[in-house]
Amino acid sequence: MAKLPWHNELTAALAERKAAGRYRQNRLRIGEQGVHIQLGDKTILSFCSNDYLGLAAHPAIKQAFKQAVDKEGVGSGAAHLLTGHSFYHQALEEKLADFTGQQRVLLFSTGYMANLGVIDGLLTRGDAVIQDKWNHASLLDGGRLTDADQLRYPHADMSLLHKRLHNAATAKHRLIVSDGLFSMDGDIAPLPEIMALSEQHRAAVLIDDAHGFGVIGEGGRGTVSHYQIAADKAPIVVGTLGKAIGTGGAFVAADELVIETLIQQARSYVYTTAQPPAIAAATLVSLDLVEKEQWRRDQLQQLIQQFRQGAEQLGLELMPSMTPIQPVIIGDDKKALEIGARLEEQGILVGVIRPPTVPKNTARLRITFSAAHTEQDVDRLLVALEQAYAH
Ligand SMILES: *Cc1c(COP(=O)(O)O)cnc(C)c1O
Repeated sequence: MAKLPWHNELTAALAERKAAGRYRQNRLRIGEQGVHIQLGDKTILSFCSNDYLGLAAHPAIKQAFKQAVDKEGVGSGAAHLLTGHSFYHQALEEKLADFTGQQRVLLFSTGYMANLGVIDGLLTRGDAVIQDKWNHASLLDGGRLTDADQLRYPHADMSLLHKRLHNAATAKHRLIVSDGLFSMDGDIAPLPEIMALSEQHRAAVLIDDAHGFGVIGEGGRGTVSHYQIAADKAPIVVGTLGKAIGTGGAFVAADELVIETLIQQARSYVYTTAQPPAIAAATLVSLDLVEKEQWRRDQLQQLIQQFRQGAEQLGLELMPSMTPIQPVIIGDDKKALEIGARLEEQGILVGVIRPPTVPKNTARLRITFSAAHTEQDVDRLLVALEQAYAH
């Protein structure tokens, strides 16, 4: 193509990013997602996927996908509202409604789009959206899409949420938005307190359970179930299907009225092609496994305990997380990168997360566990961490 008129500016910006150690790059994975993956020409023990239950390449899920392709082809060929809504999409929406205990569910092609759609679809000028500062980018972007007022409160700070609700008292409608299980700290939102405040201030609540769905709560039902909140008191929930569920796409679970409204007004629902039906078919099988195979969540808990005990003995700085997301705080950006690199030299991959994704001076390793990890894998990680720190 022809050079952009602002080619030189972009060149300078990329160079600056590189110098700051913030350059993002893909790595080529060959073969299935899992705990032992091939990256380029190296085999590596991975502690950085969101495939928490080890289902992304499960034989029964693969089989369901293939059979559905034979029946329905690959592409859905149209938006849901035209001819894209297949038998499998419908069956999955019904199953998810059943599973979550909510009246109705609407499928979206990705979690990013579900979050854009639900916030933009429900709010307009004169309303207020009140978000936890550490909410996922897609929720913050969903807020920006609407003409509603944007308010934020410090992470999980209920007294400041209270204050923001006061500040938004003159807004026509108020929507509190929070991740269920936070992706960088691994902590769970104080949902009972959020629900109590929402009642007091006549606000609605939206919970993005991308990391909680499948992982916590009864049968993997997520954050709402973790706190045993009754279905008729539940917030609107977004769940994603590409993480613990191992397939792809996302859904909004709510009451009939909210779902019908989103079908009319959520632009990321209306103006996009439905996900391939075979993905929905695969998700149907995955959900059965998620619910029935409790051992996957039990295994995760054992690995988490083992890791935390070992890491404490090594004197590493952990966070109070009881979930498969286990950050190890390092503080200094460069040091975090170095330790990540030393782990990689030992054949182990973890996420290295730095500001602005996390607060200043809290650069960290983001270690995630999968039910497919073994006790030996965690031992290997602990030994490698000890060596990386001793360097
Ligand atoms: C991954 C993620 C999303 C986006 O879901 P995708 O299906 O990957 O688009 C939304 N919210 C949170 C908290 C996430 O971690």
